[in-house]
Amino acid sequence: MTDKLDFFRDELRRLRDTESYINIRTMNSPADGWMVVDGQRVLNFCTNNYLGLANHPLLKKRAQEAIDKWGVGPAAVRTIAGTQALHTEFERRMAEFKGVEASLLVQSGFCANQAAIPALVGRNKAAGEQDVIFSDRLNHASIIDGARLSGAKIIVFEHRDPDSLEAVIKEHLPKYRRGLMVTDGVFSMDGDVAPLDKLYEVSARHGVLTMVDDAHGEGVLGNGKGIVAHFGLHGQFDVEIGTLSKAFGVMGGVIAGKQVIVEYIRQRARPNLFSSALTPGDTAACLAAVELLERSEELVDRLWENTTYLKSEMEKLGFDTGRTETPIVPIIIGEVAKAKEFSRRLFEEGVFAMALGFPTVPRGTARIRVMNTAAHTQEDLDKGLEVFAKVGRELGVIP
Ligand SMILES: *Cc1c(COP(=O)(O)O)cnc(C)c1O
Repeated sequence: MTDKLDFFRDELRRLRDTESYINIRTMNSPADGWMVVDGQRVLNFCTNNYLGLANHPLLKKRAQEAIDKWGVGPAAVRTIAGTQALHTEFERRMAEFKGVEASLLVQSGFCANQAAIPALVGRNKAAGEQDVIFSDRLNHASIIDGARLSGAKIIVFEHRDPDSLEAVIKEHLPKYRRGLMVTDGVFSMDGDVAPLDKLYEVSARHGVLTMVDDAHGEGVLGNGKGIVAHFGLHGQFDVEIGTLSKAFGVMGGVIAGKQVIVEYIRQRARPNLFSSALTPGDTAACLAAVELLERSEELVDRLWENTTYLKSEMEKLGFDTGRTETPIVPIIIGEVAKAKEFSRRLFEEGVFAMALGFPTVPRGTARIRVMNTAAHTQEDLDKGLEVFAKVGRELGVIP
């Protein structure tokens, strides 16, 4: 008889052999412009801490105060005894901030997609009814998993292509009960942006529900209010998914949109019914982040100034930054092994930036992904550029 653990040993060996094994680094400091990583102080281009809020004094103070007042955990799911006044206050403020009718706070952005999609569409085998999801080819894993979990039919449309969306809607919608169009707002591998106005127009014309996951747009696009504000579509999308773990610097997810939809999801979504509420400390810190963004656009402006500078200087050096329109700046290298070597050399020179390769991005487009933040100073960016130039020349990526 074979050992029941052999399968896992073999698979781990295969991951290592195919350069697919993830070496997980340990942080020895808060997420900020600089971090101590595996014991070494390095310039940090890896976190999604767009506005530098992950280690912000106001958010930390509010979290500490909330712990003193409310304790460390709610000790129940939202629908039994876990809804504290902090949660409802956050939901009200968030809806106001985003210019929508209502919002629901959940445990994470990943969770928000598992909550929202299966509540909105699905399959009733006995009744012979099924819904259909129209999903961008490059949507985030949490959208794909939420869509699969729903049991609805999944039809992919081409990346950022409203004509492709219209073609698949025309072909497939008549065979199903109702349709849901879902797209990432900002695609995190390339930093490109969904043509939200056009996708909305096509979906609305065919009576298809509309949903956007704005994880990388919130706090970044639309003066911090997100991609829907950026396109001037306030309140028109049926569902806007947000995360509080990126620009907001904390933890948690948001399902925002039309009142009737949010109310329905609140009643039906399984993560809201069967998993405990977000902690008081997290919730209070998120509330402080919304307040900061309402009060001033200073951090958002700094983020974009840094982005414009770093991107144009990288291009001047001869690097290929792909099709980014956001603070995510990919530096396209080509082969995975070279991108990994690039990242390793950067780290030795005191710069922490991640290599991404197939299957995360298409073959031959392995890259270093530079995440700009408002926590970086001009001096930090210049130091980063100097090291990128040095390593880029050494490895023959730039002349
Ligand atoms: C990061 C991300 C998520 C997950 O958010 P968490 O709050 O970290 O769970 C969901 N959707 C998209 C598009 C993301 O980029």
